Amino acid sequence: MTPEEFREAGHQLIDWIADYRSTIEERRVLADVVPGEVSGALAALPPTAPEAFSSVLADLDAVVLPGVTNVQHPMHFGWFPANAALASVLGDLASSGIGSLGISWESCPSLTEVEEVVCDWMRQLVGLSEAWSGTIQDTASTACVVALLAARERATDFSETAGGLQASERPLVVYTTDQAHSSVLKAVAIAGYGADNLRMVPVDPVTRAMRADVLATMLESDLAAGSQPAAVVASIGTTGTTAFDPLVEIAVVLERANRTLAHPIWLHVDAAMAGSAMLCPELRPLWEGVEAADSLSFNPHKWLGTILDTSLFYVRDSQHLVRVFSSNPSYLQSSADGRVTQYRDWGIPLGRRFRALKLWFHLRLDGPESMRIRIRRDLANARWLADQVEAAPDWQVVAPVQLQTVCVRHVPGDLAGESLETHTQRWASSVNRSGEAYVTPSKLDDSWMIRVSIGVEGTERRHVERLWQLLRTAAASASDESTAAEPSGRG
Ligand SMILES: *Cc1c(COP(=O)(O)O)cnc(C)c1O
Repeated sequence: MTPEEFREAGHQLIDWIADYRSTIEERRVLADVVPGEVSGALAALPPTAPEAFSSVLADLDAVVLPGVTNVQHPMHFGWFPANAALASVLGDLASSGIGSLGISWESCPSLTEVEEVVCDWMRQLVGLSEAWSGTIQDTASTACVVALLAARERATDFSETAGGLQASERPLVVYTTDQAHSSVLKAVAIAGYGADNLRMVPVDPVTRAMRADVLATMLESDLAAGSQPAAVVASIGTTGTTAFDPLVEIAVVLERANRTLAHPIWLHVDAAMAGSAMLCPELRPLWEGVEAADSLSFNPHKWLGTILDTSLFYVRDSQHLVRVFSSNPSYLQSSADGRVTQYRDWGIPLGRRFRALKLWFHLRLDGPESMRIRIRRDLANARWLADQVEAAPDWQVVAPVQLQTVCVRHVPGDLAGESLETHTQRWASSVNRSGEAYVTPSKLDDSWMIRVSIGVEGTERRHVERLWQLLRTAAASASDESTAAEPSGRG
């Protein structure tokens, strides 16, 4: 494709994207395909000759879009928001268009330096001290792997990079809660600690926040048993119910434990969802104590709206990363070494995209104040919904609403046990299958509930009002079905 052909096709594609976004409300939320339907509609054999752009674009409409769950739809209340602000889409396009190679500072000085600056802008915007320096990882999952690898190495005097996992005499232990994201378990496995060495610190039964007092006793008993506490992963906004682990209390426990340890315990804060909220100064008490952490990640690609993959990863001392991840083969050495940041030494990949451009475009074109307004709007909408649910007979809000997620259950009459489980799954599934809205069924204490996660850029109060209607209608007809089904069910 020549630049001139690109110009013509590109204009059409931009129009196509603008049309998709401006008419998204007319679409279903949940993709309406069965497994294999999309792949079955594609040619089994690879293309043999170049095709016209128009035929590719036609298939984008005919084949691809039906298989897309429209998470930019204002009636999408599932998982967590994955906003993709159009300003950041432009930045992503610029990044692709430049097509740079981020393997060292000299392979694209702007790539490194724009990333340093936008990470620092974000640091300032969420109120972190100057002690932090940041980089962009693809995801919070990767950030957690990197943090736990750095923690492992600090705990072992960097001997694991030499002798590997065979070098430890004492098992290294990681602490988190059963409310932490599944990526923490994955990171523990990848970083070689082993699932047996992951401790689930009990949580408060109401707030579902880590019990720092129990963490203290677990540290003591592990030390007494000859294990070596290496890291704590604290969640700031869990995925299930947006619970906030108490960082101040955890820091006090770690500070006390560290006094007797040769290697301090690493504290990683997973604020994947809630980090974006810290743009609003009034919400920062939610992560009070964060300055005591060694590393921190949050995802502008969730609530903030800088398109995936934009996970910010901050460390207080980047030398911990460099000592673990540095690679300096002769063909990557240069006279700038020592004076510039080499992001390849801060994590796993060598080559990186110019990801900073999408955050740079997003922050400059939309501006942080519009993001704050949106965050406050979403919090107010979540509060509004929680109030409706609490006031409605037979409805319950089952976890404290600390952010923008409302966890609900409909418990009609004396429904309990398996019948209640079936009822919840039935009405949630009928909402989702309708295509009008999407919510996430999820288990809390082994029992199904529905997470309503508010925060899509286009979601206004009227959408939340409509959702509340849909939930009540779906639950009412599911109740009718279970009452109708009962006689034959019992017989
Ligand atoms: C979404 C989420 C993650 C995982 O984020 P990815 O960037 O998709 O890896 C981790 N932790 C929490 C608390 C999350 O909400």
